[in-house]
Amino acid sequence: MGGFFGVASKTDCVWDLFFGTDYHSHLGTRRAGMTVYGEKGFDRAIHDITNSPFRTKFDRDVAELKGNLGIGCISDYEPQPLLIRSHLGTFAITTVGRIDNLDELVEEVSAGSTQFLAMSGSNINPTELAASIINQKDSFTEGIRYVQEKVDGSLTLMIMTEEGIYAARDMYGRTPVMIGKKEGSYCVSFESFAYINLGYEDEKELGPGEIVYITPDGYETLNPPSDMMKICTFLWIYYGYPNSNYEGVNVETMRYNCGAMLAGRDDVHPDIVAGVPDSGIAHAIGYANRSGIPFARPFIKYTPTWPRSFMPTDQSMRNLIAHMKLIPVDALIRGKSLLLIDDSIVRGTQLRETTEFLYSSGAKEVHVRPACPPLLYGCKFLNFSRSNSEYDLITRRIIREREGDDVSDEVLADYADPDSENYRQMLEEIRAQLGFTSLRFHRLDDMIASVGIDKSKLCTYCWDKQGDCKNCVSCNSNMNNI
Ligand code: SF4
Repeated sequence: MGGFFGVASKTDCVWDLFFGTDYHSHLGTRRAGMTVYGEKGFDRAIHDITNSPFRTKFDRDVAELKGNLGIGCISDYEPQPLLIRSHLGTFAITTVGRIDNLDELVEEVSAGSTQFLAMSGSNINPTELAASIINQKDSFTEGIRYVQEKVDGSLTLMIMTEEGIYAARDMYGRTPVMIGKKEGSYCVSFESFAYINLGYEDEKELGPGEIVYITPDGYETLNPPSDMMKICTFLWIYYGYPNSNYEGVNVETMRYNCGAMLAGRDDVHPDIVAGVPDSGIAHAIGYANRSGIPFARPFIKYTPTWPRSFMPTDQSMRNLIAHMKLIPVDALIRGKSLLLIDDSIVRGTQLRETTEFLYSSGAKEVHVRPACPPLLYGCKFLNFSRSNSEYDLITRRIIREREGDDVSDEVLADYADPDSENYRQMLEEIRAQLGFTSLRFHRLDDMIASVGIDKSKLCTYCWDKQGDCKNCVSCNSNMNNI
């Protein structure tokens, strides 16, 4: 994933930029950067944050950077922000999203004899590619519109010039962009909570494809929002921060709704309800409040030295770290029947190990309730690094065993239908493989009701393959009218 924060201020903006960017640390694990523009021109710092937090790495830079314009990012992949000089002038650029057709676009742009700096592993930096596409046009607005049209996937970005900041939300609004305001200063942020403690108030949420230009004196919309919204539902389920609001819906309260609706359909009577930290906790509170069954923490995360939730990227190390972080509370496990809520089941490995561990610690029963439906499709719109291939998903492995390699969309849709026999048998197989006493997923209709936004505005591709507007005939004909 990744996240960003920008400031346009009448005074020095570096501390706001530092804390605002730091508040996006839950969204990425590899690189972080800050670029400012001040009396000495553009100045920039980029660090590897794989093994130490943003604040530690940028401690010294805060004292050295000076400027009243700044953009910062946390990145799961490429070093950013990049400083570019072109016929449009000198500018800094940072992006969030995923370019699914990267090779095709690199080839297209390279045909005009453009060169790219190769990153480690010979990969092309997607933010550099975005800048090259923007540079093919005569203005930033035209260039941003052009790159948004070209990219399969999604691209939300900020561009900082010597005068101001362009902020653009991706074509279908899969990721959020907020503008905050305080006396003498405006900020741009992925997370709406990131500016609260800096004294900013909500000013505006950009719509899908909207482009806004921000200076210390104000902002103007350069490209209006479209009504083709497909905001990522996983923002609320899993990776958005609890304090944030997207499209006016708070993450924490959405998770309470999720848990309450899970409880409303349930018929088990465990001794306690627990959540797998971090996101599972809020879902579990919602379940406990609705059911009247006490909420408890049978294992607690050791946060002083394991503050980050995603790292590292290697799966076996991630599993080991996930295991080392969670420490059990024997008195809440031994002899107890537990109901455990996790945000989702991807491979199932961690949840199986957690369940085995609970049994070996004396648990009588472990009922599992994921806060979203079974994941059937990998995300191709965001760098949402929970699985590398669809066959990492436990559902797809089971379906392949039952149906073979060539499975039609119709058959997959049947496995997604909570009232079908295929769905029931797939769940029973997951339950048996992972060793749960019982298993019941959130239903798609309940999950959507938990968000409270019309399904037509949500991306639900992970679960039902709905939300790929760019490759959808009816959406494309609508887009032509925008
Ligand atoms: S496919 Fe899933 S993770 Fe990706 S944008 Fe859609 S809902 Fe979000």
